[in-house]
Amino acid sequence: MEPPGQTIRPSTAEPETARQSAYDLPFTGLERRLVADGLRPIHARSLWKALHRESGVPLRENAAFLPPLRRWIDHHLGDTGTLHTTPPAIVADIASSAGLTRKFLLRLDDGQTIETVAMGYPGRFTVCASTQAGCAMGCVFCATGQMGFSRHLRPGEIVTQVLHARNALALAGRTGLRNLVLMGMGEPLHNYDAVLTALEIISDTRGLNLGPSKITISTVGVVPGILRLAEEKRGYHLAVSLHGATDEERSALVPAGKRWPLAQLIAACKTYCTTTGRRIFFEWTLIAGTNDTPAQAARLATLLTGLDAHVNLIPLNPTGGYHGGTTSAAAATEFQRVLRTAGIPSTIRQRRGIDVAAGCGQLRTAREKTAHH
Ligand code: SF4
Repeated sequence: MEPPGQTIRPSTAEPETARQSAYDLPFTGLERRLVADGLRPIHARSLWKALHRESGVPLRENAAFLPPLRRWIDHHLGDTGTLHTTPPAIVADIASSAGLTRKFLLRLDDGQTIETVAMGYPGRFTVCASTQAGCAMGCVFCATGQMGFSRHLRPGEIVTQVLHARNALALAGRTGLRNLVLMGMGEPLHNYDAVLTALEIISDTRGLNLGPSKITISTVGVVPGILRLAEEKRGYHLAVSLHGATDEERSALVPAGKRWPLAQLIAACKTYCTTTGRRIFFEWTLIAGTNDTPAQAARLATLLTGLDAHVNLIPLNPTGGYHGGTTSAAAATEFQRVLRTAGIPSTIRQRRGIDVAAGCGQLRTAREKTAHH
């Protein structure tokens, strides 16, 4: 684990144990591999489609594959092959009482567990995926932050979360995957290369076909990652967790604020807006008596003046390890009024699926507690 305030940086670290998953490979990587083994590009297209459009059907039962591809699959994707297509195991699959939110706890091949959420809306749904097992950022109100960092996820471990959610909902008669948000367990920009490879795979028009404008990367404010996204002109939406409008107040909730003070963070956000032409979403978890006063709303408005910003106000999702309470509806409305008066647009977000522990890390924490007691 790299504690906030020291050496947090974009990283490519991977688990040591696993064979590479076919889902780790972007199309060009898969095609290169097959062509190097004497197959033609048409075989790569056929395999890619089966992996990303039709997953759920065992590859060996796919009647559309030509004999050379079948032989390649037997050799390379078999038990002793160099690649695998094993999906994560499902530890829990829980629907909210209203049926709109479905939450999955998945076990990876080294035993780590991660959470994926499908949030339903009329005729469509959004998947919220994890990018790390645990998290090094230590945000005090977050169940994942409270459990600490275990490891980075590989690209395929991010891709298969989306595939799993899509397939599970399809089995329940629900289609319409429209958006992906990287707001599950982990800090996406702390696992930059794997996350961006996963997003390239997920955006591929031959597969899941979720374009950059449908994808939101949520960060606690990893400035080097934001600047790299800007420099590489990635078209993803960016959501930045603020929670405090002074360094002192913010760092008390988000330790990464000590490493990247607000002046640096806001400057990086301005660069991102200018370079990409994208509006930035700022996340503000409203905690009663801690960061929900009109004076704090006024400071937030001042901080964001001049930025193309939209603030998402999220009443705290209580966790067992944090004493803060949920803001009242009246305080949330007043906070929003102050922002509106200053010309800063905002939304008070519903707490979706609180009965399925939808705040990231809460389901894993609940399961581990059950297992340990
Ligand atoms: S809120 Fe996000 S960045 Fe902060 S500890 Fe939780 S998972 Fe990590």
